[in-house]
Amino acid sequence: MAFVGGLGVGDLGVRRRASFASQRRRPAVLRMVAVGPRVGHGFDLHRLEPDNKLILGGVVLDHSVGCVGHSDGDAVYHCVVDSVLGALSMPDIGQLFPDKDPEWKGAPSDVFMRATKDLMEEKGYEIGNLDVTVILEKPKLSPHKGKMRENIAELLGCDLDRVNLKAKTHEKVDALGENRAVACHTVVMLVPRPLEHEAQSTVAEATAVTVDDPKSLAQDWMQMASKRVMVNLEAGTAAIREAEAAIQNEHVLQNLYETIKSRKGADPSSSWTAKLFSKGRSKISQKVGEEGTEVVIAGIRDDKPELIKESADLLYHLSVLWADAGVEPDEVWDELRSRENTSGIAEKQSRSS
Ligand SMILES: [Zn+2]
Repeated sequence: MAFVGGLGVGDLGVRRRASFASQRRRPAVLRMVAVGPRVGHGFDLHRLEPDNKLILGGVVLDHSVGCVGHSDGDAVYHCVVDSVLGALSMPDIGQLFPDKDPEWKGAPSDVFMRATKDLMEEKGYEIGNLDVTVILEKPKLSPHKGKMRENIAELLGCDLDRVNLKAKTHEKVDALGENRAVACHTVVMLVPRPLEHEAQSTVAEATAVTVDDPKSLAQDWMQMASKRVMVNLEAGTAAIREAEAAIQNEHVLQNLYETIKSRKGADPSSSWTAKLFSKGRSKISQKVGEEGTEVVIAGIRDDKPELIKESADLLYHLSVLWADAGVEPDEVWDELRSRENTSGIAEKQSRSS
């Protein structure tokens, strides 16, 4: 695919190769706090014609035809770059490095790879894993796949086992199969960079350039690190609270029942529940009926707060009745569970028969 011009990329700070060097000088405080993984997809295609070099994944291949296109036409690098930029929700390679700009004419595509790695790290990410599929009829890529993987892993600053590369032919059909084009697909997952990597980058940057104020750089770093910790801590705490609440909700009726049961046989003057038990089954059943009626009234009146209150009263008195009759909540839950796989109508029929 030929690059198309577009978007003023000055705001992104990646207009010129020279500016990438100055990018590296930006202290780590400008890095963003990454939360959660991000997925990106890339696709690229170049025409193959005589008098062009065939370079894929940084490997120069001996072949009669080569890639037509901007820069050195490395469809694999272009495709990898697009997937990483996509995962970062950034403009694509053609917008970041417009082909109308003579700066990129014949440029080696590893420049785009390095720039993309910088952008990815500035946003607080690194490669989780990358899967590349190259479609080329000729020449055979199997002898070169290892080197391509190594090049990609090195340029993106990740371990080799995070990069996979497959090569396919196009079964001699269409432009790809007739060796008139080469295509590439990539899928990438980016993951937040561990804090120690951020720290290493900061140290590397601080030692590579003259730092006017090392103390303030250190403070910036501390701030960024503590912000990252706080974000993760807050997310973790919220998840734990939610799980605890869910567990408590699940056990609230069981806990109520246990409390009620413990009052059985106690001195009637010691608690309301003990007094209710002392009045006997008829009185308890009658209370359940009364609370049921209150629920009905609240329902008909469409009074939600009252419905909640009366439902709680009903469940309390129902639990007293269960405890008095020796019915365990589990027996009721089992009955409900046995109905889960039955349709409403079938269940009703089985009850009425
Ligand atoms: Zn391309």
